[in-house]
Amino acid sequence: MKVIDHINNAGGKTLFSIEILPPRKGEDMKTLFKALDPLVEFDPAFIDVTYHREEYVYRDLGNGLLKKQTTRKRPGTVGICAAIQNHYQVDAIPHLICGGFDKEETENALIDLSFLGIDNILALRGDAIKSEGRFIPHPEGNAYASDLIEQIMDMNKGKYLDDDLENPVHTNFSIGVAGYPEKHFEAPNLDSDLAYLKKKVDLGAEYIVTQMFFDNQKYFDFVEKCKEAGIHVPIIPGLKPFATKAQLNVLPSVFHIDLPSDLVKAVEQCKNNKEVKDIGVEWCIQQSKELKEAGVPVLHYYTMSRSETTRRVAEQVF
Ligand code: FAD
Repeated sequence: MKVIDHINNAGGKTLFSIEILPPRKGEDMKTLFKALDPLVEFDPAFIDVTYHREEYVYRDLGNGLLKKQTTRKRPGTVGICAAIQNHYQVDAIPHLICGGFDKEETENALIDLSFLGIDNILALRGDAIKSEGRFIPHPEGNAYASDLIEQIMDMNKGKYLDDDLENPVHTNFSIGVAGYPEKHFEAPNLDSDLAYLKKKVDLGAEYIVTQMFFDNQKYFDFVEKCKEAGIHVPIIPGLKPFATKAQLNVLPSVFHIDLPSDLVKAVEQCKNNKEVKDIGVEWCIQQSKELKEAGVPVLHYYTMSRSETTRRVAEQVF
């Protein structure tokens, strides 16, 4: 079922959903199911599966020379989505990115998804390759999430790259997109970012999932600004239980977000990461309860494929 139908059928009840990462190359699906089992008990409306860009690695040739190669450390997003739908009968949402693909490859991936009965997609631009300073689009690919949405919407209308096809099937994808309560880090300002977010919605995105935030006021302000900008689709808050001391620096630098002073002070006083987890779970429970009270359509948790902290939150909230 499409995310928007889950929301509309819920009759105002806040739904539970999660995001997971594909296992590292060489790991077993069973590891992932083991992490998912304790969360599936809470009846997630859908499970998002991230997509990971290729990385450059340097292989030692043993003769003093290094060879530059590309590798994908967490492949398998599409297969995992199919496996989740098959194993749990829960809708799985692949993240599809622009980076690294030409439009033909994107079209073929969309055809695979359609054949597998996967009709939800989170359409993203993706980040730069780790060793490259900025995002460089594929010369024959999509440069922005909005371009990817146009390609998907074309296929929903039966328009493929090859216009010689006879009676091509109309795909039936529902599209979600990313939104940034604290602004996308490349955007010159929030107004500009919101204008492009509106473009994604006007092109056909049916809902927005936010970047993680730790201060609910940032989400509430964002929702207001979206409304003022003419964006009226559901805005799903993304939450992450804070889990380690290192995340005090990692989360702001990777996700370009601020951490509230009270949370930072509490974490700094912790003697070990067990204490940090307890603080993080409690913080996330309070965030979740307030958002639920405010009537958000879904609470979406970034699990990083670890179930323990999200489960502790879900036990108190759902
Ligand atoms: P866009 O919407 O394309 O925006 C990118 C930037 O360009 C913004 O600054 C925007 O303001 C600007 N912009 C947009 N359109 C235009 C235009 N037409 N002209 C000029 N400027 C424009 N990354 C992954 O690699 N894999 C994942 O699985 C993944 N999952 C994510 C899930 C969520 C919920 C979120 C919030 C992010 C996720 N990301 C993921 C990270 C995301 O790919 C990055 O934040 C990326 O830098 C931007 O992606 P986007 O889809 O928001 O880009």
